[in-house]
Amino acid sequence: MYHAHISFYLNCGLLTPLECVKGAEYAYHQGSAPLNAVEGFIRQIIGWREYVRGIYWLKMPSYASENFFKADRKLPGFYWTGETDMNCLRQCVSETKQNAYAHHIQRLMVLGNFALIAGIDPKDVNEWFLIVYADAYEWVELPNVSGMILFADGGYLASKPYAAGGSYINKMSNYCQNCRYKVKEKNGADACPFNYLYWDFLARNRDELSQNHRIGMMYKTYDRMSEDKKLAISNDSKIFLDRLES
Ligand SMILES: Cc1cc2nc3c(=O)[nH]c(=O)nc-3n(C[C@H](O)[C@H](O)[C@H](O)COP(=O)(O)OP(=O)(O)OC[C@H]3O[C@@H](n4cnc5c(N)ncnc54)[C@H](O)[C@@H]3O)c2cc1C
Ligand code: SF4
Repeated sequence: MYHAHISFYLNCGLLTPLECVKGAEYAYHQGSAPLNAVEGFIRQIIGWREYVRGIYWLKMPSYASENFFKADRKLPGFYWTGETDMNCLRQCVSETKQNAYAHHIQRLMVLGNFALIAGIDPKDVNEWFLIVYADAYEWVELPNVSGMILFADGGYLASKPYAAGGSYINKMSNYCQNCRYKVKEKNGADACPFNYLYWDFLARNRDELSQNHRIGMMYKTYDRMSEDKKLAISNDSKIFLDRLES
């Protein structure tokens, strides 16, 4: 609801970052926009947009081939068709196909989060994000995909991977209400796949992540789980990911 829809105009040069920032500042001084909204908006432009631009020019061309987790699964076909029972992904892909736009949380916590915890090859994920969005230019797309969602740079851009289970998506949206999967179930055929894939992702990448100060503590929770529970996570993930590939 609260998105500016200006990235396309900014990236193709019809708007400049400075005029957007000044416009927001002016609105604040006129009393027509509250300080927290104006601060947040200016931070997106100066903080994030300029930051990722800097990373791109600093780290290219090697940045494009980074793959910290050695993820090599092919991009599932439903990223193109939207044909999946996972309602959050189905809706985000359908809206993307219709509008060549998705807001940040759809890109980050649904489409990106799934690609991260399912271990999709960064090359495939980058190709998809570059093709489907009207605002996609490599200098801004690549750091967001390889750095922010896939942690393929090992933490150069972000301090932790944005991995999350279904409860986060449920908190931030109403997708789960109309999903064939049950967000509160952790294992089994009806469980939300984000729930077991999240833990399986952590278990698979323990060597890479256990020392990370922001996510490392999750291993304490994982280690407290019973062996049966860990086995269920691993089995459910294997069944789901095998089916994804076939
Ligand atoms: C996986 C992934 C891929 C992305 N790919 C692109 C892309 O190809 N092109 C693109 O412009 N943005 C990209 N973004 C950033 C962000 O999602 C879009 O800029 C935003 O959704 C555009 O919609 P808006 O104009 O309504 O943004 P708002 O939410 O209203 O934000 C205002 C402006 O802030 C800037 N901004 C906010 N966050 C970022 C960010 N992380 N990186 C760069 N600029 C930001 C944008 O210029 C945006 O127009 C990506 C984010 C993710 C997680
Ligand atoms: S239950 Fe899981 S798969 Fe379904 S919409 Fe919610 S997060 Fe997505």
